[in-house]
Amino acid sequence: MSSIPSWDEIGCIRCVACVGSCPVGSIRFSNNRIIFLGETCTGCGLCVRICPVGALSRKGDDDE
Ligand code: SF4
Ligand code: SF4
Repeated sequence: MSSIPSWDEIGCIRCVACVGSCPVGSIRFSNNRIIFLGETCTGCGLCVRICPVGALSRKGDDDE
């Protein structure tokens, strides 16, 4: 569960690049929000790397 990235809703520009980047389809865009489907996320970090504004981060990288 801790492998699900964190989403910064203030910094996110809603480009939806992360949704297409996820190899297992764990990211959805709904009601102007990015939603992670935690059951399928492998924590690969692709979405974190593709976000152009750094609005996604891996939880394990800083605290927790
Ligand atoms: S790639 Fe980054 S800016 Fe684009 S929708 Fe995803 S979180 Fe938001
Ligand atoms: S970390 Fe990987 S598997 Fe999880 S949501 Fe991001 S791209 Fe998808």
